[in-house]
Amino acid sequence: MEKILVCIKQVPDTMEVRIDPETNRIIREGVPSIVNPYDFYAMEAGLRLKEKYGGTAIVCTMGPPQAESALREALSLGFDQAFLLSDRGFAGSDTLATSYTLSCLVRKLMPVDIVICGREAMDGSTGQVGPELSESLGWPFFSCVSEIKEIVNSRLKARRMMEDHYEEIEGPIPAVLNVVKEIAEPRLPSLKGILKAKKAEIIVLNKGELEGEELRFGSSGSPTWVVKVWTPEVHKKGMVLEGEPVEIAQKLYQELKKQNVL
Ligand SMILES: Cc1cc2nc3c(=O)[nH]c(=O)nc-3n(C[C@H](O)[C@H](O)[C@H](O)COP(=O)(O)OP(=O)(O)OC[C@H]3O[C@@H](n4cnc5c(N)ncnc54)[C@H](O)[C@@H]3O)c2cc1C
Repeated sequence: MEKILVCIKQVPDTMEVRIDPETNRIIREGVPSIVNPYDFYAMEAGLRLKEKYGGTAIVCTMGPPQAESALREALSLGFDQAFLLSDRGFAGSDTLATSYTLSCLVRKLMPVDIVICGREAMDGSTGQVGPELSESLGWPFFSCVSEIKEIVNSRLKARRMMEDHYEEIEGPIPAVLNVVKEIAEPRLPSLKGILKAKKAEIIVLNKGELEGEELRFGSSGSPTWVVKVWTPEVHKKGMVLEGEPVEIAQKLYQELKKQNVL
């Protein structure tokens, strides 16, 4: 294989995400960031493909300059190259503009055989970037991949995890995949990897260098916007069951039966 590209996103490391009431966007300033947890599975899948079929393992993210730390973490795991797509003109990107921006990098890096995304980002959680990226490139999309079986004669065989069953799927590459946790246990970085990543070059590309269509980047390329963000009210009250353990278990059983849960 020539190139395997993994897309990762830096997300806020907090369960208490704050929203800017003016713009309805997540406040990212001053909040510690981490690599989106799902993306470790995408990275593991990418690195295993490289180990099996050869080629260059590349990692990329679109984000502000601080997203560089996410890429260094990826490099410490064994990636060969890292690209940061960063430009003030990318601000306000919705998923369509994000996936378009990523597709410009793919075109620039061709020949790329496989692009791997996480299933969803912990903050945005739309799960749209992978499928939209494949659409933008005109490539097949393999969703919810739980196992990459083989790549033979430019065809990929994979197992896909559905809600209550698995599917064996097959299609041509180049292709875009998103992967689920079952794909593989993510590796930890080695000390050598961490030291190497500290000194490694991160290639930063701006809007001009991506050579895309000006109006498809950032807010001008984003047909969706967040109208309102709110926390749903909790209507159900909790119930405290008291007594001896056996008594509590009986009360719980009766209550669940009453509520038709059993
Ligand atoms: C109107 C509007 C304005 C917005 N403005 C901003 C803004 O100003 N700043 C901002 O940061 N966000 C902004 N967002 C959020 C932005 O759209 C999402 O962060 C982004 O499109 C990814 O969507 P998601 O989080 O749902 O990712 P998902 O689709 O859930 O992510 C799936 C996978 O796609 C890949 N992926 C997702 N995002 C990236 C990325 N950036 N780089 C590389 N790979 C990625 C990862 O592999 C990830 O696991 C805005 C959204 C809207 C609707």
